[in-house]
Amino acid sequence: MKTSPKSSLTVLRTGREISVVVAGLADEITRSYAGKCPLVIGVLKGAFVFMADLVRHLNFPLEIDFIRLSSYGSGRESSGKVKVIQDIRASIKGRDVLVVEDIVDTGHSISFLMEYLQKKGPASLKLCCLMDKPLRRRVVVPIDYVGFTVPDKFLVGYGLDCAEEYRNLPDVCILGEDSQ
Ligand code: 5GP
Ligand code: MG
Repeated sequence: MKTSPKSSLTVLRTGREISVVVAGLADEITRSYAGKCPLVIGVLKGAFVFMADLVRHLNFPLEIDFIRLSSYGSGRESSGKVKVIQDIRASIKGRDVLVVEDIVDTGHSISFLMEYLQKKGPASLKLCCLMDKPLRRRVVVPIDYVGFTVPDKFLVGYGLDCAEEYRNLPDVCILGEDSQ
């Protein structure tokens, strides 16, 4: 279902501001992975824009894969019941693995994913997340690299959607309450 024309969008971070944050994260990550060849796993679909921007700043050899988890569906709440709906292809046993996520909200999805991957025996497993929404956290999740903290608002753009709309916006925006 498409959102109504009355939807209001308020820019939280511009694409230009985000690119500065992404470059800073990439510098930090590049320093940590010197001499390694990690597998960088993007969490679909929300992280696809962040992943594409981030990896182009990473200055070391790496491989890329994607994983997809069950999502919010068309609503705005995480159910807490998470499952893998599209798995990675490569074995991660003995490998350095970096997970790239768009946003950590309740923490249900990413804590499930980190446990799921940990069971496969990686040499190391780290998490890079563009946005942290700590006010709604239900599960403690250690985040190794965080871009910026966001308020308890529903966000769209830069890969994030509302019922599959808005992923292509260059900015991260707050979607107005009147939109569903
Ligand atoms: P969590 O399990 O931490 O509650 O959130 C899981 C996923 O929900 C995130 O990875 C992200 O894809 C999505 N999500 C969380 N907060 C928002 C938001 O404000 N806007 C959108 N579009 N997706 C969100
Ligand atoms: Mg996500």
